Amino acid sequence: MGEGGTGPAAKTASGDAGLALEEALIFELGGTGKCGVDFDEEPGDVSPSLAKFARKAPVDLPSLTEPEAVRHYTRLSRQNYAIDLGPFPLGSCTMKHNPRLNEAMARLPGFADIHPLQPMDTVQGAFEVIEQLANWLCKLTGMEAVAMSPKAGAHGELCGILAIRAALEARGDAREVILVPESAHGTNPATAAFAGYRVENIPATKDGRVNLQALRDRLGPDVAGVMITNPNTCGLFERDMKAISDAVHAAGGLVYCDGANFNAIVGKVRPGDLGVDAMHINLHKTFSTPHGGGGPGSGPVVLSELLAPFAPIPFVRRDEKGRLRMVEERGAKEHLPQTFGRMTAFHGQMGMFTRALTYMLSHGVDGLRQVAEDAVLNANYVLRSLEGDLDAPFADAGPCMHEALFSDDNLPEGFSTLDIAKGLIDEGFHPMTVYFPLVVHGAMLVEPTETESKAGLDRFIASMKSLTARAKAGDESLKSAPHYAPRRRLDETRAARKPVLTYKGEGVPPGTPSLSEIGGS
Ligand SMILES: *Cc1c(COP(=O)(O)O)cnc(C)c1O
Repeated sequence: MGEGGTGPAAKTASGDAGLALEEALIFELGGTGKCGVDFDEEPGDVSPSLAKFARKAPVDLPSLTEPEAVRHYTRLSRQNYAIDLGPFPLGSCTMKHNPRLNEAMARLPGFADIHPLQPMDTVQGAFEVIEQLANWLCKLTGMEAVAMSPKAGAHGELCGILAIRAALEARGDAREVILVPESAHGTNPATAAFAGYRVENIPATKDGRVNLQALRDRLGPDVAGVMITNPNTCGLFERDMKAISDAVHAAGGLVYCDGANFNAIVGKVRPGDLGVDAMHINLHKTFSTPHGGGGPGSGPVVLSELLAPFAPIPFVRRDEKGRLRMVEERGAKEHLPQTFGRMTAFHGQMGMFTRALTYMLSHGVDGLRQVAEDAVLNANYVLRSLEGDLDAPFADAGPCMHEALFSDDNLPEGFSTLDIAKGLIDEGFHPMTVYFPLVVHGAMLVEPTETESKAGLDRFIASMKSLTARAKAGDESLKSAPHYAPRRRLDETRAARKPVLTYKGEGVPPGTPSLSEIGGS
């Protein structure tokens, strides 16, 4: 489209540079009067009952031929970065390779082509997958039960907190406060607030962990529970987890663990042994089902014996005859009379379940344990390779878990975390997570996962060293990186605060920046 392009493409007549192809918006491409298919002539007479709905003006949709439509979306897809192109070192996100075996299994018609309202006798195999997966999740976590229906990590958090609230209310002890550590993932306080709790922070110690004494001091009859991420978002294991759980239980509260980082400890640590009452597992992180860009996730929640009776419906149960049934209603005795209710219309993400179980069965328990070991090894390799170049605030406190955390402390005046992240785009990498967690200034959180090879990590490390060296040498060009991407440095705040949702014409609110305004650098 030329307009916003200030990268290399701006220098050519076509707007493309080599095989890096520019692409206009579909509305700019599609004139009227072309079509990819032959429609019948419009019938002249509209049925009287529909006449008043007959369209008087053109629909104003872009019209493209089939090759134009195919090229449009293929060109757009090439402007995207994907785990199938290179490493995705986003800390806290566990962007690992999705083995193709997972895809083959998920596409089997018995899993891919079924409908949630099909008679139960016709989907026994799918129920069996859900049941086996549930079994693995309980075994791996040392927990009593699992709610399979939550659709993502944050949805799982809500499920766990609603179960905690139902259990407290059932014993006539509604409480108002949920304690959350400073380093918590943003979804934790959001979940607690959404469930109607007041959120209070627990401070961190100097070595990046929950301050146990501060937590003990705050516990009391108003505290419903805590939400603790373990391993935490500084990439560190909460060594005091059992003591935290014991203290919370002694004060009458319950323990929610954010298990999104389970990748670092799967097969090594069972959260049930640490006194956890509820924990979500991101199948789309630990168990390799693909994610990103709002794609399907799945956040099953494992529950302790105490919380199991409050699990949401629906769930799968085996009846006396050995058949698997979906329990859809509360009421009857076997139907969890204490369930807190229903969170989703249907049961869950069949495709994600099939991929996760495939991943588990193809790795076995020993393989899953090695996943955790290799993920931790890779993160420590990154940490130790870069700690001389970038400030690593918790490196002295011992090894990290699945992710390596750096701050901007060693960057010279005038250079920022953002410059390193944008420089990585020129180097051909997706940037790491930046400015999170908030407990570290200018945080750079790198999670390589176990699926990167040593050679791949070495390439990433070499790029990081080069970018840091350029900043230290005062290379001003780094401040306007990326230089080789189709778009240069965007005003991201402005784009987020004033999103341009219509490309031209009446819908554009006054004062909306044009593409060239936010695209110029
Ligand atoms: C990813 C993540 C979540 C949220 O999971 P979603 O599936 O994105 O809703 C929560 N907590 C932590 C620590 C995470 O990394």
